[in-house]
Amino acid sequence: MTFDPHQLRDDFPILRRTVASGQPLAYLDNAASTQRPQVVIDAMSDCYQNYYANVHRGIHTLSEESTAAYEAARVTTQHFLNARSSREIVFTAGTTAGINTVARSWGHANVGRGDVILVTIAEHHANIVPWHQLAEAVGCRVEFLPINQSGTIDDSVVAQALKTHRPKLFAFTATSNVLGTNFPAQSWTEMAHRSGAAVLVDAAQAAPHEVIDVQQWDADFVVFSGHKVCGPTGIGVLYAKLEHLEAMPAFLGGGGMIQTVTTEGFTATEPPEKFEAGTPPIAEAIGLAEALRYLQRVGLDNIRQHENALCQRADQALRQIEGVDVLGPMPDLKGGIVSFTMDRIHAHDIAQWLDTRGVAVRAGHHCAMPLHDVLGKTASARASFYLYNTVEEVDRFIEAVQEVRKKFASKGRRRRRPPVTN
Ligand code: PMP
Repeated sequence: MTFDPHQLRDDFPILRRTVASGQPLAYLDNAASTQRPQVVIDAMSDCYQNYYANVHRGIHTLSEESTAAYEAARVTTQHFLNARSSREIVFTAGTTAGINTVARSWGHANVGRGDVILVTIAEHHANIVPWHQLAEAVGCRVEFLPINQSGTIDDSVVAQALKTHRPKLFAFTATSNVLGTNFPAQSWTEMAHRSGAAVLVDAAQAAPHEVIDVQQWDADFVVFSGHKVCGPTGIGVLYAKLEHLEAMPAFLGGGGMIQTVTTEGFTATEPPEKFEAGTPPIAEAIGLAEALRYLQRVGLDNIRQHENALCQRADQALRQIEGVDVLGPMPDLKGGIVSFTMDRIHAHDIAQWLDTRGVAVRAGHHCAMPLHDVLGKTASARASFYLYNTVEEVDRFIEAVQEVRKKFASKGRRRRRPPVTN
């Protein structure tokens, strides 16, 4: 399949719409959530229209068909991550739910008073707050790796922190959702394992853009969200090595995760069902599997190459605009994300102006307040690219930012607003 973003756009019905009084939509908010191709929408509709029923234990045709499709989605996900077994794939509600599951289950069983959870300062709140909560519950400490001037972290800093803190767990993002920085999942995992730490990789911003091989990474836990890989909302993936899932206590209790229940207590069933209490996201799993197949047909290497080119173009052009501060490293060290601030112009004003030009970007702290604090910013504007974005859209984005410069800077306007979430 030759990679042509203009052609790929036809797969995404939403991209045909206009916004802001007839402007074509330039959707550059992909780090928050991506759009869905027709095949994903169709797969979910097909489930609801033709064979939907609750999964597992149903002795009737529809339940058997739904169960088969749901379990096939697990196998598709296993292959997408190159996991050893489909039993290592737990369907969750998303990245946040996956990390919370590890914190509540593995964390409560393995982390105690005085122990350390090591994270980077560039984490999304989803990879900070569950560890703060664990610290409140068991008395452990959360330590943060600092970033350097160029928005990266040297291996020597990681090595030193592993030596000093001897963490129980090193939990880091493979790609920062603000800086776009790619952190080396495989080599950091190796370093952490050598120091005796378990590893959780937040792949929310990596899974949409690169081939992930969990056996190569060798991380103990890897999490990502369906809605960022052209799949539905309400579903995500927690990959964990089977030995962990077998040893970890169930986190949510209820139907589906038990072997027996008596008035005295319960016994949990085997993974992955042990971690899927209640009715799971059935149509969502089927939609996710379709999305993963779609990305594989397009080719994750093609996607990455395309986004890097767009990112490079946007990054270089932004740096030419007076008063613009691009956060994070130069494009060769980052994924398809460019966050920036403008002197004396609030990020919300930038996003609002861009919206009048049909360009959708995000403004705020992007659920990364500690990172914005160390950068000395309250908020930033973020453009994030995906397979269906085009060079023309990058140019429209840049033109609109230039307009912002002219329009607001001349007025010397400065607006202070509380940062918004995500
Ligand atoms: N981690 C990272 C790096 C993210 O970008 C996001 C989504 N913004 C999350 C975690 C949380 O993902 P979700 O909201 O889908 O649970």
